[in-house]
Amino acid sequence: MPLVELRGVSKRFGKVVASSGIDLRIEDGEYVTILGPSGCGKTTLIRMIAGILEPSEGQVLIGGRDMKGIPIEERDIGYVFQNIALFPHLNVLENVSYGPVVKDVSDEERQAVPKRYLELVNLLDRMRMFPSALSGGEQQKVALARALASGARLLLLDEPLSALDARVRMDLRYELRRITKDLGLTVLHVTHDQEEAMTVSDRIVLMRSGRIVETNTPEMMYRAPKELFTANFIGETNLLDGVVVASEDDRTVVEVRDGSKVEAQPSRFEPGDAVVISVRPERVHAEEKGLRAIVRSISFMGTYIRITAEADSEDIMGFDVRVPRGRDFNVGDNVHLGWSKQSALVFPRPPGGIAEAVKLE
Ligand code: ATP
Repeated sequence: MPLVELRGVSKRFGKVVASSGIDLRIEDGEYVTILGPSGCGKTTLIRMIAGILEPSEGQVLIGGRDMKGIPIEERDIGYVFQNIALFPHLNVLENVSYGPVVKDVSDEERQAVPKRYLELVNLLDRMRMFPSALSGGEQQKVALARALASGARLLLLDEPLSALDARVRMDLRYELRRITKDLGLTVLHVTHDQEEAMTVSDRIVLMRSGRIVETNTPEMMYRAPKELFTANFIGETNLLDGVVVASEDDRTVVEVRDGSKVEAQPSRFEPGDAVVISVRPERVHAEEKGLRAIVRSISFMGTYIRITAEADSEDIMGFDVRVPRGRDFNVGDNVHLGWSKQSALVFPRPPGGIAEAVKLE
């Protein structure tokens, strides 16, 4: 039985449609992230699951039970929300010991569990301090420890790592996944950080403008996105528009704006179809032959050099290319860009244009 199920859930705030017809199932024990640009409706969605907001339409089910009218404290969830602060009059240990649900555990266990989680987030030495004496990042860690210590089987986390330093955030990501997997918890984690989503999730739900764009494992979202928006939002990509001139068993040949012909994966498109090709920067090589381009910028990135090249025709977008160190490039150089046909995906050209289709509204 899915632990969380949304059926046709919509939420309107006056004229703003924050969620629109959301259908989603989260299986027991799954770690799911809701990812998307700012304002796409992530927080609204998780708040409806928590019971802080009521949907305008549709149903939220937890463990098969309709949650309509059931308040947050009766939903058996652990949560970390941006604006739900710690209790200011309780110290750190008391905050973490405060379980919203009375648990059937021994006194010994009741005392040991909060300390275990405080140790995990490295705050055991602050357990007698009050929240006002902690930094924003420390408060976030206490909230996380409290959610884990609550004993709830479902965790709802809204940007739980956002106030932390980059390094701590990275360490805690792995810990978060490991602990929740060890405990067999179901997690719904909201983030706008695609790298965070890629590293912690079993499955990513990508949202845009109140709707789900697509849902898949991190690897499939990256390797085989179904939508142009996904290809552009998850990881980095170069987009190039053109028209199919040949569609064969092992490749699609596309003529781009400057008249060059480039290859892509085999696809369902027919000659004459208007398409967009997506190819990741790390798959593009500067070669002897291929799409003509001019180097516009060069950046040293440590293990590789990144060049931004612009194809001859003004209509073609800039290309990011990663080249091994040791090759000399100068701004203004003519280069040829190429890739293996397997690494170029083909999408239908959106009627409103590429920019509109990938815009972060
Ligand atoms: P962010 O990543 O910036 O936190 P988000 O994806 O979580 O954004 P939401 O906070 O869910 O997005 O907001 C979705 C839309 O609903 C936005 O346009 C927002 O302005 C609007 N909205 C959210 N809460 C309210 C509210 N209480 N009243 C009016 N509009 C709201």
